Amino acid sequence: MKNKESLLAMATVKYTIGYDDRFVYVSPSWSVFAKENGAPQLADNAVIGRLIFDFLTGIDCKELYRMIFKHCRESNRKLIFPFRCDSPNIKRFMELHIISDSQGKLHFEAQLLKVTPRKYNVLLAKCTHRSDRMIKICSWCKLVEISKDHWVDIDTALEQHGLFNESDIPKLTHGICPNCYVSFASRYKK
Ligand SMILES: [Zn+2]
Repeated sequence: MKNKESLLAMATVKYTIGYDDRFVYVSPSWSVFAKENGAPQLADNAVIGRLIFDFLTGIDCKELYRMIFKHCRESNRKLIFPFRCDSPNIKRFMELHIISDSQGKLHFEAQLLKVTPRKYNVLLAKCTHRSDRMIKICSWCKLVEISKDHWVDIDTALEQHGLFNESDIPKLTHGICPNCYVSFASRYKK
C-alpha cells in the first residue's frame, strides 16, 4: 500500500457476477487493487465476461464457492465472511459481503476493516525465486499446511518451524484449511 489514497481506494472493492457466474461489473477500486497486488492483467475490464471460477484455485475452494453462491441466490440474504488478504509487510483483515438480486446476479463488496504491520514474511513476496516444493495456504485465514493435515499461521511457519530458507522458498497454492471448510460447510451446505 503506497499512500493514503490507495488505502482508501481499496477500502471497498466491488464486483458483480451474472446468474451464469461471469463477471458483469468491477469497480475502479478493483483495478487499483489488481495493480497493487501484482495482477495488472486483471485490471480495468479484463475480467468482464470471464467465469469467476477461472480465478479461484483449488477444487475445495471452487466447491465451497458454488455452495455459497447457491445459498446466497436461494436465501436472498446478505452473506458476510471474514477473510485475509495479506502482503509481506502487512496483514489485511477484510470482510466479503455477497448479496443476490432478483435476476440471480451476485454483488460482492470486499471491505478493508483493519491493517496491521507484520515482520516481513518472504513467503508472501511476489517476486521471490521459488523451489519446486508446493505448500497449501488457506485462502480465508492464511494458515499454511506445513505437513499433512498440520496447519499453522504463516508467520509461525516461517519463524518457528524454520522450514524455509533463502534457497527453498516453496510455491504457495491456494486452498482451504479444515477449520474454515467445516465452518463454511456447516453454515451453507444443504
Ligand atoms: Zn482457513
